[in-house]
Formats: sequence, C-alpha cells, structure tokens
Amino acid sequence: MICAGNPGNKVRGCDRHGCGHYGARRSGGRKHLGVDVICKDGSVVYAPFTGMIGGRVNPYKKNNAVNNGLLLRGSAFCIHMFYIRPDKYSGRINKGQRIGVMLPMQKVYPGITSHVHVQNCDRSNPTGNL
Ligand SMILES: [Zn+2]
Repeated sequence: MICAGNPGNKVRGCDRHGCGHYGARRSGGRKHLGVDVICKDGSVVYAPFTGMIGGRVNPYKKNNAVNNGLLLRGSAFCIHMFYIRPDKYSGRINKGQRIGVMLPMQKVYPGITSHVHVQNCDRSNPTGNL
C-alpha cells in the first residue's frame, strides 16, 4: 500500500486534468511516464519496498504547492515518487514504513483525482509492480 486509504494501489482514472495510467497523453505531445496512485490530500504515504532514500526530486522546474518528492532505491527497483512532503530526504526505508504525506494537490489542480506519481528511474512501465 503506497497511500493510506488505498490498499489496492488503485490507479487514477481520467478526470478534467488528464488520465493516470502509464503512457497517457499529456499536453505538448508528451506522454505520462509514470503511474498515478490515488491518494487523498494529507494522507500518509508508505515505502513500496525496502531500500534507501536517494534524495529529493521535484516534478516541476517552477515551484508550486505539490513540487516535492523522493528518489527511492531498492535491490530491484529505482523510482521517483512525486507530490509528497517527505519525512526525511536520506537514510534507509523498510517496506510499509511511513515516508511522508500527500501534498495539497486540490489547491494546484482543483477537481483532479489527487494522487502520488510513481515513475521508474529508467522510465519503464511500473504498473505491474503496484
Ligand atoms: Zn503522474
């Protein structure tokens, strides 16, 4: 479970801001290179595997209220998780351990299905590992 309240790691469907699956179309002809796991604003977020926090990663160049995230590394995985306020930016993590909370996405994208964005470091499709 990546987000409290979403034990099945249910993926965001489509809403007025776009769709949450891997490969979904984005503006400017770009593709969505991660998967959006539904997560209500303020919910606790958990480590999806045991490993290390590799530091802060931001989804945007221009800052806003959801511009934060973590690089996580495990023996078999390397991912970016966006839109969370991390508890810390380094150190070990155990699968299922709290790593932060969901940022206030509704303030930035009103009406969106709030979510954590999970993206593999090599940009491959992470859906099968959710
Ligand atoms: Zn996304």
